[in-house]
Amino acid sequence: MIAALAGGVGAARFLTGLTRLVKEEDLSVIVNTGDDIELFGLHISPDLDIVSYTLAGIVDEEKGWGIRGDTFQCLEMLKKHGLDTWFGLGDRDLATHIYRTDRLKQGFTLSQITDEVCRSLGLKVKILPMSNDKFETRVTTSDGSMHFEEYFVRRQGKDEVLGVEFVGAATAKPSPGVLNAILDAEVVVVCPSNPIVSIGTILAVDGVRDALRRTSARVVGISPIVAGLPIKGPADKMLRGLGFEVSAFGVAKLYSDFLDTFVLDAQDVSQKERIEKLGLEVKVTNTLMNSFERKVELARVVLGK
Ligand code: GDP
Repeated sequence: MIAALAGGVGAARFLTGLTRLVKEEDLSVIVNTGDDIELFGLHISPDLDIVSYTLAGIVDEEKGWGIRGDTFQCLEMLKKHGLDTWFGLGDRDLATHIYRTDRLKQGFTLSQITDEVCRSLGLKVKILPMSNDKFETRVTTSDGSMHFEEYFVRRQGKDEVLGVEFVGAATAKPSPGVLNAILDAEVVVVCPSNPIVSIGTILAVDGVRDALRRTSARVVGISPIVAGLPIKGPADKMLRGLGFEVSAFGVAKLYSDFLDTFVLDAQDVSQKERIEKLGLEVKVTNTLMNSFERKVELARVVLGK
């Protein structure tokens, strides 16, 4: 069994390669829900949808989110009604949010609904929301505290980050199966995702970090920082804002209490020794997943195949 900790786009890209080498049934993906947001009365789970749409082969690969070929007529109509439509929601994508919201109202949990969505998309992989409980990532900028998506999508991640807050972290329990997926795995992969707001959130859920320290699985992390910068997204602003080093080393250090192996991009090879001094095995490879072959190759390095 393999378990993976995942945010959105970076993780989903990697998982496409991993599922070429590992049977879907043998893979559990624990996904960040700190970005979940309610808009127009609907419960949106951005990272859960990015991962499931990507693995189902229907994602809009150019954007990294949403459904390929989707239209945005509903959003245009909402705009006509005077609503603020800063968050991209395609027509077919909206069906997922309507379904999820309706089932939540009927009393089903986010895990149960995620299982149902996976089944209807024909997926055999187990996608586990990190928690079924309220957990909200908020970012503090010079304009005050705001939901992560407000910072990232509405304001395009332009503000300097003064702080990050996980509302609900003190009480959020891992969803059923999360801790066992980590404890029973042979390999746990920490995908190349934002270390603060995608992986940091999962690590903040009660018992997750402890399970990662205790598991007999080989725990392998992939650097989301390449040549000193993120490929996309605000990981640099977040690391800097919270006083961490913006580098592959900076990420390795954040995970060093539970990682066995860190996969470093060849462009950052100069940091190999520093990371080894943290007590980690370091594998150096090309981590840029700009083709399907590169995704599979990276998965091969991670699995040691
Ligand atoms: P998102 O913010 O929802 O897209 O999701 P993630 O947290 O999963 O992804 C953002 C992180 O993925 C960024 O820090 C990127 O640098 C990293 N990333 C994206 N594509 C690649 C890639 O091809 N290789 C590596 N090493 N990292 C990547």
